Amino acid sequence: MATQDELIITGARQNNLKNISLRIPHDQVTVITGVSGSGKSSLAFDTIFAEGQWRYIESLSTYARMFLEKLDRPDVDRLEHIRPAIAIEQKNPVRTARSTVGTTTEIADLLRLLFAKIGHPACPACDTEARAYHPGDVAEVLLKEHGQSRAIVLFPVDVKAGQDPASLVRDLVRRGFIRLRVRDEIVDVTAQTASEIASLLKDCRELEVVLDRLVLCQDDRARLVDTLETAFREGGGRCVAEIIGAGRRRFSQAYSCQSCGRTFETPKPALFSFNHPLGACPACKGFGNILHYDEDLIAPDRTKSLAGGAIEPWTKPSADWWQKQMLLAFKRRGFDIAKPYNKLTQTERKLLWEGEGKLEGINDFFEYLEGKRYKLHVRVMLSRYRSPVSCDTCKGTRLRPEALAVRV
Ligand SMILES: [Zn+2]
Ligand SMILES: [Zn+2]
Repeated sequence: MATQDELIITGARQNNLKNISLRIPHDQVTVITGVSGSGKSSLAFDTIFAEGQWRYIESLSTYARMFLEKLDRPDVDRLEHIRPAIAIEQKNPVRTARSTVGTTTEIADLLRLLFAKIGHPACPACDTEARAYHPGDVAEVLLKEHGQSRAIVLFPVDVKAGQDPASLVRDLVRRGFIRLRVRDEIVDVTAQTASEIASLLKDCRELEVVLDRLVLCQDDRARLVDTLETAFREGGGRCVAEIIGAGRRRFSQAYSCQSCGRTFETPKPALFSFNHPLGACPACKGFGNILHYDEDLIAPDRTKSLAGGAIEPWTKPSADWWQKQMLLAFKRRGFDIAKPYNKLTQTERKLLWEGEGKLEGINDFFEYLEGKRYKLHVRVMLSRYRSPVSCDTCKGTRLRPEALAVRV
């Protein structure tokens, strides 16, 4: 092990410590145990944390140090490779499932600010950094990458469901836009009859309006920027540049993935808080895990049979009806009601859990009770058969995908 990977303590004598020397590996959980009065706190708080804190404060300016408590250095010969330390004492027991080391020490608040200020969203699907474009940026890109090429500048128009294409086109013409690009074809709508337009736009979800055809050259930059400004304004912050012979480029004024067009919110501090609806993973509500009905809790003793009370919730007097109808169904099908749960066949197990037709299974039982959650005793009972599993949507990180997509 390289020595930087561990904290080396030599000759610690703080409080009642008897000149002890030890090494503690970094990046791992280390637990200090011992009987009362053996010096656990003297080592953890009064030596390691005290020295880490002392060195941190020493690194601050004299002015900043005026506002901080003066700390005494611990009585120790040498402390090597110590990192900035935080200490959480046990005197303030944390009871909510939402508290973490990050929230208790307020480091999470600082990280949220950091991510909001300098983070950039990246598209999870394309793995490219999302960005926002302004007309000047677009002109820059086009001139740099496609200088001297001929190009068409367009803006997209969404066709809403149920919208009359004729009135949409009339509106565009009234605003001075007469050339459209529909299904890879550029058409002059003033040269078309109403029925031709209707058939052209049939089932069309998006069409594009042709704004300008031009050669991309530095001398004409002002005209290009002008056109792009109009495109962004008319196209709801979106525009398309079709470079003749080199394909299409889409640009968006909103933070968006420039390859698939998915838009992202401008990062705000609340987006990085799992205690805030804006940031919390919608699947687990920011807890990082989801409660699911646990077979191990529902059938805790798998050597028991259905008749012998294998299904624990069905042994309660209130669930008598469920137990009886299942026993009856087993008998009718010639299944052995005295067979241990762990010996049940796939078919028997499926019947037991899923039911069949009017027969209600274990899943139906819990679904029925879910509908009665407003009763406290039902909620208490349901909680006894559920256990947490790591949330699949956020992989236990507790944040929504948009927040996880932001990188620093
Ligand atoms: Zn994308
Ligand atoms: Zn989640």
